Amino acid sequence: MNKILKVLARQVFDSRGNPTVEAEIFTKRNSARAICPSGASTGTYEAFEKRDKNNKKYLGKSVFNAVHLINTKIAKTLKGQNIHNQERIDALLINLDGTPQKKNLGANAMLAVSMAAKKLSAIVKKKPLYQTFLVKNNYKLPYPLMNIINGGAHANNGLRIQEFMIRPDCAKNFAEAMRVCFVVIKNLYELIKKKGLSISVGDEGGFAPMINSNNQALDLIVSAIKKSGFKNGKDISICLDVAANELFKKNKYSIHSKKYVTVEKSIKEYIKIIKKYKIKSIEDPFEENDWNSWNKLMKSVNKIQIVGDDLYVTNLQRLKIGFLNLSSNSILIKLNQIGTVSETLDVIKFAQAIGFKTIISHRSGDSEDTFIADLAVGTNSNQIKTGSLARSERVAKYNQLIRIEEQLGKKAKMNKI
Ligand code: PEP
Ligand code: MG
Repeated sequence: MNKILKVLARQVFDSRGNPTVEAEIFTKRNSARAICPSGASTGTYEAFEKRDKNNKKYLGKSVFNAVHLINTKIAKTLKGQNIHNQERIDALLINLDGTPQKKNLGANAMLAVSMAAKKLSAIVKKKPLYQTFLVKNNYKLPYPLMNIINGGAHANNGLRIQEFMIRPDCAKNFAEAMRVCFVVIKNLYELIKKKGLSISVGDEGGFAPMINSNNQALDLIVSAIKKSGFKNGKDISICLDVAANELFKKNKYSIHSKKYVTVEKSIKEYIKIIKKYKIKSIEDPFEENDWNSWNKLMKSVNKIQIVGDDLYVTNLQRLKIGFLNLSSNSILIKLNQIGTVSETLDVIKFAQAIGFKTIISHRSGDSEDTFIADLAVGTNSNQIKTGSLARSERVAKYNQLIRIEEQLGKKAKMNKI
């Protein structure tokens, strides 16, 4: 009953229209499938994403080799394994690959299989997925870090900062958190339209108007919060993902304008916008190898959530370096940066043990798969970053959290911010 009978995979498409891996696992009576997401602003130290570079028919983006590896080597290795032994399944995948960055099998092949196994185990146990991770009771809902303006590598508008987000700090439950974000987004829509700017959206569903100054974007957001009847910095906090890897050249950064300036100047500018716009969270403020600058920023600001994404790439070794170096106080968690569910859970456990906030995240290329919504609740993660209230692949995660909150009924609580 609990034995894996069959593992198979196919090439499907992600939200950017790029090919990606879907894996499906079968026991005697049940089956489950999972789709691997894909990033655009990726960190150098992320696990390897296997694509068929030489397949011109798909412009080098197909994943037929990864699919083939699942249908042959991985299927053979996992056949007969106990579906409930996730750690063994992941260890077998890691051993079969045998490289530090998962270059043989590809993390996209491995993660699709790993997530499908986790889902199937929950189905066989007849448990909701969120009840099968780390938390055993007192489930809490994460605060959404809702993306409302897209820039950087996720849009073509020239905005330096990649993601402008809002966090509905005043919400007492998840449904209310969604309502607060909904109202601000609708008001932002009206403001953008009134200015004669485009109301089209970027890869993560946030608006991508043709503006090119961070301050212009921040002013628009502050106006939308006000127009919605909320207080910026109290009811709602503005949060940023700078994705500074993309804005770095020869030890200088072009975060706040097109001009490359020193770290000291960049920090001064950060402090200015933190004050002016009451910003509460900044992700990837500096480049992935620039540990010192992260530390300088941590020492220069007070009570600001500093989040490592490209810096840590959901990798335990890198998180340990960041902890010792006092680089940040929070970590972004992306399953495909490391490649298996078990390794992701190890990183979350360690992060929580050292007092870091954990923020579960989508990728800019994502799918209808809602695994990360359950992961956020099941690991007691403080926040979830999964785009805007637009594009079904983003909304699907929020809808799943609404269902989980409903299922929990009176027991449902919001997490600490
Ligand atoms: C991010 O940088 O946090 C992000 C979600 O984008 P991507 O998936 O392109 O890395
Ligand atoms: Mg990021």
